[in-house]
Amino acid sequence: MLTLFISDLHIDQSRPDIARAFLGFLDSHAARAEKLYILGDFFDTWIGDDVIFHEPKDDVITEVLSRLKKLSTSGVQLYFMHGNRDFLLGEEFMRQCGGTLLNDPCLINLGNTPTLLMHGDSLCTDDIDYMTFRKLARSPGWIQDQLDKPISERIDFARHLRKTSKEKTSQTAESILDVNQAAVSRAMNEHEVTQLIHGHTHRPMVHTFNDASQIKKRYVLGDWDKQGWYLAHQNDALTLHSFPFPCL
Ligand code: MN
Repeated sequence: MLTLFISDLHIDQSRPDIARAFLGFLDSHAARAEKLYILGDFFDTWIGDDVIFHEPKDDVITEVLSRLKKLSTSGVQLYFMHGNRDFLLGEEFMRQCGGTLLNDPCLINLGNTPTLLMHGDSLCTDDIDYMTFRKLARSPGWIQDQLDKPISERIDFARHLRKTSKEKTSQTAESILDVNQAAVSRAMNEHEVTQLIHGHTHRPMVHTFNDASQIKKRYVLGDWDKQGWYLAHQNDALTLHSFPFPCL
């Protein structure tokens, strides 16, 4: 029984290599899995599910959707969580690909181990400005206001968000962009887990630490920029893997 976790692919028309690597991953790995969890920032931007039908259609989105649908139809359970880039992914997208949208955080049983899944942005509590925006951007009223805007306006807003996020990343101290350890402890204690899986920070790693007299593990997924990353659970072992992108 194989369960796979990926996040932070940042799929976008400008990066056909990433979409290609993902489609290869579906054939080579996901096709053999029982479950595939995509823990946020699957798309670099997502301005609303109506882009699926908007003409001219986005080739990358169309191809990815149809291949996800094929996967879920073949019996692989497909789960999505919002990231900070694609938090407008909605139920129409899930219908189109046969996926299920999870809350962040989400508690699952992995083998016999209760495991907390998160995108990871909510753990970066040192970034006060972002936490303020996150709170706003998760409120149903704000989301509806966004979705009611014309597509062109939403594209401009997404561009603006991406630009500010890039500027900020280049100016902000390294440590602020990582998770806050107290926030990690709090989340894990609250849900009574010793195992946490998240992405977002683009710092793939398995952290083992001691907290409240227990050994705990935090698995951080990698972003798909120069290579692909996934976490595999099989035979009670959880392992982090990377693989080179296929040549275009
Ligand atoms: Mn993210």
